[in-house]
Amino acid sequence: MASGLSPQTEPLYHWDIYAVLYAPQEVYFGHETQVNVNLIETVILPDGSERVYLSPTKRRGVERRELLYAAVERDGKHFFLTDLLDCGIPNTCGDENCPICRVYGALVTEKKGGRERTTFIGRLTHGGGVAIPGLEPLEKQRAMHPSNLRRESGEEPQPFKRQYGAPGLLFPVYNHVLSASEKEFRPVAYAFLKSLPRLGAGNPKGLDFYEDGEFGPYLVLDRYKAPLGRRVVLPPTLKDPGEALAEFRRRAADAPQGEALFRRYQGKEALEELRRLAEAFVSQDLPDLAMPKGSK
Ligand SMILES: [Zn+2]
Repeated sequence: MASGLSPQTEPLYHWDIYAVLYAPQEVYFGHETQVNVNLIETVILPDGSERVYLSPTKRRGVERRELLYAAVERDGKHFFLTDLLDCGIPNTCGDENCPICRVYGALVTEKKGGRERTTFIGRLTHGGGVAIPGLEPLEKQRAMHPSNLRRESGEEPQPFKRQYGAPGLLFPVYNHVLSASEKEFRPVAYAFLKSLPRLGAGNPKGLDFYEDGEFGPYLVLDRYKAPLGRRVVLPPTLKDPGEALAEFRRRAADAPQGEALFRRYQGKEALEELRRLAEAFVSQDLPDLAMPKGSK
């Protein structure tokens, strides 16, 4: 098959997740290894303003890691999925039965251990992440403390500057999956929900769905064969949180009702549906997962 995947008996749909996330604390998105640089990720908009940025590429990496560290029980032993499948980052397993590689994609350049491996195109894409409102990142002094050994030799704490996104920033984010069965989408639902406490580098970290009494959690889930609903994607030029949330609600309402080719869930209903899919991944798919040929 040109796709690298065998045909399935379950129907295929396109899927979209749209959400507005908020940070309950200052949040930092840099690389943990950049101890002395510590610049938060930012983007420059066409009007020249600088915005805090939750990179879609990093979200993808966090989600993939959430799946790799899902817990699986086999014969009374508890495995991380990464060890059971011998699938990791960047060494993707490329096994057709791997629930991660099937959707997130795999790049395989060698045949290993007699296992059938191949390259799959990733069918999941990530977008959004430009923070609202248009605040510039905060710069703060932090002290870097010397180890006990260096302290004994009279070394003092070293001040260094670190950038943070202010608490309360809103991050509109989007995940799209191209032609996947419900079963293939379940790990995506699991990873999307499970990644929320781990978004951001270092400490502090963690985001959640923005919520109000009118809309509930700012979350929309589409499952469709034909793209009949308005995409709930916010223009990054919006700076006012109230305007951005109103635009999210306006777009969410722009979708057909009772249409066989397009189903939209929003607010609490969307969250319930994602939870149902995540639960099925953990309680049905992980226990059923075939041990790959040639693994321990
Ligand atoms: Zn894999």
